[in-house]
Amino acid sequence: MPTVWIENKDDQEEIIEKCDSCAMAMVDTDGKPYVVMMNFGYHDGYLYLHGDPQGKKMDILHKNPQICITMSTGHGIYKQNEEVACSYGMNYKSIVADGRIEFVDDYNQKVDALNIIMKQYVDRDFKYNEPAVKQVCIFKVKLTNLKAKNFGRFVR
Ligand SMILES: Cc1cc2nc3c(=O)[nH]c(=O)nc-3n(C[C@H](O)[C@H](O)[C@H](O)COP(=O)(O)OP(=O)(O)OC[C@H]3O[C@@H](n4cnc5c(N)ncnc54)[C@H](O)[C@@H]3O)c2cc1C
Repeated sequence: MPTVWIENKDDQEEIIEKCDSCAMAMVDTDGKPYVVMMNFGYHDGYLYLHGDPQGKKMDILHKNPQICITMSTGHGIYKQNEEVACSYGMNYKSIVADGRIEFVDDYNQKVDALNIIMKQYVDRDFKYNEPAVKQVCIFKVKLTNLKAKNFGRFVR
């Protein structure tokens, strides 16, 4: 299979930097899975996420903070033979990691987290509206069991 496992931390972080969203999987107290797409920021081994304090994902996370995340970038179709469906595939670089979410409640730490999230998308600084910072729910996740993969026809 055209898979290369990426072990180098800088190369793993380069994939994370290039991703614009992640899928965050949770498990409710009945063992039922739930997954949502999330924007994020990354700094020093932690993923930073934000969202409305209400809703199903927050209900689950308050009861079970264990999550699994995945993200991918560099999508592109390759093929060896235009006529053969099984020769088609998709190039990608991706991450899968586990973690346990930690809620960020301190005001200044919330601002720091928002800056980290914004830096993932926009290379500038922002000022934040105090009520909005107080209202938003911020949480961070130390990524564990991180695996990074480069898959595709032309990875070698
Ligand atoms: C690219 C992308 C980035 C996003 N980034 C963020 C982010 O940074 N922070 C954030 O909070 N949210 C983000 N969202 C939205 C997120 O995926 C959830 O839809 C949202 O957080 C609501 O989740 P909830 O569990 O509170 O939903 P609830 O409002 O409690 O959902 C009720 C029901 O609606 C369904 N549902 C929930 N979300 C969706 C959906 N997106 N599409 C279809 N059905 C749905 C589920 O079946 C759920 O049971 C993003 C979505 C996308 C596509």
